[in-house]
Amino acid sequence: MRSVSTGPRRGPALDVAVVGGGMVGAAAALALSRAGFSTALLEARPPSPWNATDELDLRVVGLAPSSIALLDELGVWTSIRDARACPYTHMHVWDAENGAAIDFDAAGEGRDLLGYIVENNLVQWTLWQSLEVAGVHRLCPATVKDFDTRPDRVVLDLADGESVSVRLLIAADGAGSPLRERAGIATHGRDYAQRALVAHVTTERAHAHTAWQRFLPSGPLALLPLADGRSSVVWSLPEAEARRVQALDDDAFLHELGIASDFRLGRITATTSRAAFPLKLQLAETYQAERFVLLGDAAHVVHPLAGQGVNLGLRDVAELRDTLVAARQEGRDFAAAHVLRRYARRRRSADTLDAYAFDSLARIYTWQAPPLVAMRGLGVRILDRLAPLKRRIASHAAGF
Ligand SMILES: Cc1cc2nc3c(=O)[nH]c(=O)nc-3n(C[C@H](O)[C@H](O)[C@H](O)COP(=O)(O)OP(=O)(O)OC[C@H]3O[C@@H](n4cnc5c(N)ncnc54)[C@H](O)[C@@H]3O)c2cc1C
Repeated sequence: MRSVSTGPRRGPALDVAVVGGGMVGAAAALALSRAGFSTALLEARPPSPWNATDELDLRVVGLAPSSIALLDELGVWTSIRDARACPYTHMHVWDAENGAAIDFDAAGEGRDLLGYIVENNLVQWTLWQSLEVAGVHRLCPATVKDFDTRPDRVVLDLADGESVSVRLLIAADGAGSPLRERAGIATHGRDYAQRALVAHVTTERAHAHTAWQRFLPSGPLALLPLADGRSSVVWSLPEAEARRVQALDDDAFLHELGIASDFRLGRITATTSRAAFPLKLQLAETYQAERFVLLGDAAHVVHPLAGQGVNLGLRDVAELRDTLVAARQEGRDFAAAHVLRRYARRRRSADTLDAYAFDSLARIYTWQAPPLVAMRGLGVRILDRLAPLKRRIASHAAGF
């Protein structure tokens, strides 16, 4: 896979290097290569191959129509959908404290579906399979240790002593982004002091292609429909409680989960192993530096309650590709500061609005004082009847 190796004195070998081959970085490399940019993708850890006979990946995401449209444009969506993906047509969100509920229905929005639930490693693996055909230079395993920005290029130093020289460096290296730190870009946000516990469970009643979400004072609990009829649990809990629940034996876990889900899908009868992920809100102060941009979780980390993290990342990809293509068509340097600034400004303001909207929702649902709980219930009941506003929310979540 080590197909690019060039010394710094030879000038930029390639247009762009994407560092990080998660869902967002792999999609970025494919999109830019398809748009005619010579591209390298550097990833520290080889992705796990996806096999139809393997147990479903514990990590799943809800892909919004905007993400599906991008993956379709990149020529990978049909394979992902046909491999193992579950469409959902309804979303039912309700409040454990006051029973107020809001429903979203695809037909009511004039659409066939609200989105698809898919396994993270299926999306990543399918993208990886397409990279080579698209002419992307995949360097894996390859860890970027440092980089040096020159007037006309960026030189990346790899852990094994090799170097790669490009005109633009794209960091899609995840929430802890070493490259963001190296670029001196600070972040702000807050630690939710919560963990999202994930598992796949078998329920007595069918999931009915519905994403179910119950807001409890301790955090939201989602049951997302899976292609094999089971449901994927994403249960946000305070850290100590998450550790306790993760350590329960299966029977005790199923019992507590049944109660927490209000037995909406009947009894919960079987579970896989469980994993837990710390939750935080994190926004980079800027998405851009000289010949450098941030994408995906490297730029923004949001609460999973709205299931939008990777969807925002894929919107970054589409915006960056369109911005670079437009600059090149106008005969400008696609890595020039004013070009990158345009991408950074647009995406950062959109992501910031979304991140704080999700954050406000998370906060509002922790209110427990009776007058506030009653006010929240009234607000949700009114919203559920305001069709035009609901349509706007659904359309925004879809990425339109
Ligand atoms: C419980 C949970 C549920 C979620 N549900 C949803 C959902 O329903 N919908 C949704 O849209 N989002 C969801 N998300 C968010 C989503 O999972 C993330 O936004 C997404 O996975 C981020 O992808 P990424 O490619 O930006 O980063 P990552 O997946 O973190 O990829 C970063 C990659 O960079 C590599 N890397 C790091 N440093 C280096 C280096 N120096 N050199 C080379 N490679 C490097 C790493 O090995 C890694 O592969 C959820 C998140 C959680 C925790």
